[in-house]
Amino acid sequence: DVKSRGGDFSMVCSKREVRGVVMHSLSAELRRAIDEDELVLYLQPLVDVSAAKTYGAEVLVRWQHPRRGLIMPGDFIPRAERSGLMDDLTFWVLRRGIGYAARLRQGGRDLRISINVSARSLLRRDFPDNLQKLMDERGLPGTALTLELTEDTLMADQSRTLEIVERLAATGVQISIDDFGTGYSQLAYLKRLPVSEIKIDRSFVQDMLESDTDLSIVSATISLAHALKLRAVGEGVESSAQLERLRALGCDLIQGFYVGHPMPVGQFERWLRDRDT
Ligand code: C2E
Ligand code: CA
Ligand code: CA
Ligand code: CA
Repeated sequence: DVKSRGGDFSMVCSKREVRGVVMHSLSAELRRAIDEDELVLYLQPLVDVSAAKTYGAEVLVRWQHPRRGLIMPGDFIPRAERSGLMDDLTFWVLRRGIGYAARLRQGGRDLRISINVSARSLLRRDFPDNLQKLMDERGLPGTALTLELTEDTLMADQSRTLEIVERLAATGVQISIDDFGTGYSQLAYLKRLPVSEIKIDRSFVQDMLESDTDLSIVSATISLAHALKLRAVGEGVESSAQLERLRALGCDLIQGFYVGHPMPVGQFERWLRDRDT
């Protein structure tokens, strides 16, 4: 079995020896999951809050483990980061997400697909070229793709990030700042970055009807987004009351269990059809 997996398995083992056997096997299993397509794309709808129109969907990855069942990203992404598997995971998700977006467009649906990208993957010099190659292969225009980057990702290495984000923006790919308000942003730098969207972290949305502080943060973030000519997205919307408040505050897009849970591709397509009728 070890032999059949070849070099990958032995590489993971030799680098991680000190961390013990459990760690070995999980990293090796994750390697296998990426190579043998045990990962699964889930899609969560993004809707236009005023037009009640579907705008697009965020790709959220899950791991369908043959014995352990469905594993959530919080339980394997940190491990992928630590075991050097993050680039492969990012490209697995990009390849599948872009392929899926291209199929949706061929089916006549003009939806944008948002994909999460970690700092480590973004900052590789070959990232924009590799991404462009994937889009060319599938014939997907850059304008159909949004990359979600956290504030910390964007702030980590500013000059390099600026260069890479500018190259991406030149191809029409849009950049979204994810979990806004939980990290650290310098407005002077944000202003120079060609970003299109700010996603207000769901912790603020979830508490805004009970907490004046959270409501002020949500309201100020929407104003900031609009002052910078960016879309504001409210995530983690779980009730109609939250949706109505975000609409009143001028939020552009919303995402959350109230609109639709993250769902596998087949279910997402049924969700789209049900909304059409
Ligand atoms: P995120 O990018 O902030 O994604 C939103 C998370 O909030 C998702 O959790 C989603 O299921 C959850 N969520 C959405 N609406 C609601 C709601 O109304 N209420 C509540 N309580 N939760 C809601 P999920 O799928 O477990 O993903 C967790 C994190 O894992 C993501 O946070 C993202 O940081 C990371 N992640 C997921 N897929 C990928 C990926 O393909 N690549 C990378 N680099 N990170 C990913
Ligand atoms: Ca996200
Ligand atoms: Ca988020
Ligand atoms: Ca998050």
